[in-house]
Amino acid sequence: MTNRKIVQLLHVQSDNRVFVDMADDEDNPCLSCGACCQHFRVSMYMGEMASSPGGTVPDELVRAVNPVIVCMKGTETGNGRCIALRGVVGKPGIKCGIYHLRPTPCREYRVWLEDGTPNPDCQRLRKDNGLMPLKHRSAVPGVTEW
Ligand code: SF4
Ligand code: SF4
Repeated sequence: MTNRKIVQLLHVQSDNRVFVDMADDEDNPCLSCGACCQHFRVSMYMGEMASSPGGTVPDELVRAVNPVIVCMKGTETGNGRCIALRGVVGKPGIKCGIYHLRPTPCREYRVWLEDGTPNPDCQRLRKDNGLMPLKHRSAVPGVTEW
């Protein structure tokens, strides 16, 4: 019997959005990458701030973009490092310092797409940072669980 682990967990929300959690496991490629966290502007509705009802993202880590949108500090213009990122990009041990509080765009971003192919953005960003490309999900121990 194959010993398969769950690395990427998908959670369908009541509004049909799909949120992703990556397992704290050696087969999680993000724990030695972090490239996306220093590339995109990570913006969100201000209702995601911890000071709003149901919000989670610490207020002190965001900056206003306009009256209703904020973004993670450091990512304002793109190609900037998110203030919540901990560790050295491309090195083991890198992680999000607010993983369980992170905003929606981070929760929706997938490493593997539904057909098991790696996210093309991951492949591009990993290449830009000198990292090996990701394999198809069928070639790694991780499986996806809904
Ligand atoms: S670029 Fe992809 S593999 Fe790298 S940390 Fe982001 S989601 Fe993970
Ligand atoms: S909040 Fe966390 S997951 Fe999102 S960009 Fe920042 S470090 Fe990455």
